[in-house]
Amino acid sequence: MSVPVAKLSFWGVRGATPTVDPATWRYGGNTPCLELIAPDGTQIILDCGTGLRMLGNRLAAANGERVPETHIFVTHYHWDHIQGIPFFAPLYAERNEFHFYSFRSKFLGRDSLKQVFETQMALPYFPVDMSAMNAKRRFQEVAGGDAFFVGENKVTTRALNHPQGCLGFRIETPAGTVVYATDNEPGNLELDKGLRELAEGADIFINDAQYTPEQLAGPKRGWGHSSWKEGVRVAREVNAKTLVLFHHDPDSTDRMVDAILRHGREEFDSVFAASEGMVITLGAPGGRVDAHMPGTRTALRGEAQFRARVSGVTEGGRPFDEETLVSDLSLQGAMISLRHSPRLQSELQVIMETPGANGLQAAMRLRGYVVRIDSSGEKGVSAVGVVFTD
Ligand SMILES: [Zn+2]
Ligand SMILES: [Zn+2]
Repeated sequence: MSVPVAKLSFWGVRGATPTVDPATWRYGGNTPCLELIAPDGTQIILDCGTGLRMLGNRLAAANGERVPETHIFVTHYHWDHIQGIPFFAPLYAERNEFHFYSFRSKFLGRDSLKQVFETQMALPYFPVDMSAMNAKRRFQEVAGGDAFFVGENKVTTRALNHPQGCLGFRIETPAGTVVYATDNEPGNLELDKGLRELAEGADIFINDAQYTPEQLAGPKRGWGHSSWKEGVRVAREVNAKTLVLFHHDPDSTDRMVDAILRHGREEFDSVFAASEGMVITLGAPGGRVDAHMPGTRTALRGEAQFRARVSGVTEGGRPFDEETLVSDLSLQGAMISLRHSPRLQSELQVIMETPGANGLQAAMRLRGYVVRIDSSGEKGVSAVGVVFTD
């Protein structure tokens, strides 16, 4: 019998507005969009931020325009969660079919999400109107507290504390439970309780971590967001296994998100900072959550290998230091063979010997950020992908 496996992909992780500044490229600048493929093949998209565009292109390319029947859950109607809709290519192909789920907004009334579609594409905001969008679209209203099935997967919702409302989704698949609770602020007794019910025992708990605890206590109170500290608190209380910090502030540079992640890891065992291109596999043999991050983004790679001294921290949190070879070197990253298995999203010091100007050896000191660990090759050796951070 095969083991049920679910795959969760992050296509957009940024909150509020997309960012393209170079200081944010490592975690990524697209706004919320996740894709979950359940073991029964059910495809669920969570939110329609700008990350949806690239997911749409991938789907169209993989399926020759025809995409599988897809269920799309929209948490709420703020720009960052709907902005990708008009740019989702599969919506323009007649043979595709989409099921949308969202709540009835008191500001819009019946068919809230349908109205959002029409408004987004109304003149003069978009070059073509709704009649160009040929795919079949079905809209289902859900409210906080509802439970329903999509395929064999049970979906439960809760209202979250956010201006003009927001829904959190809990998806129970045979491979594990994913809870998506973005855009929520602690401080409302009833809704705080709802968040905990939603996240109870989750394998993956994705929570809003837009602000630092200091911002949340001060100027950003009332904006509807949370912090890594609050995420850790909830994860502990409900025995969630892995916490994913999500909805990074557009003004948070990669360095700032690194710091937020570091704080989270000091207080909770398994924490990731959501990163564009990150894929988490649930239910894989061994039972552990397996995460991969996108590798280097350019192909300026050489065949050459360089001797290097690498130090960092292992998965278990112990410091290590070893001599090894660096290959696949580009301006932005490299593959490094290591006998130690470093922690994903941790920092490595890499001191590399490179040929100097007149044939002499010169040492180059770099800081690498671990984006990928592949232990499937030579026994006892991991191929570790890093991106250089300065
Ligand atoms: Zn948002
Ligand atoms: Zn929002």
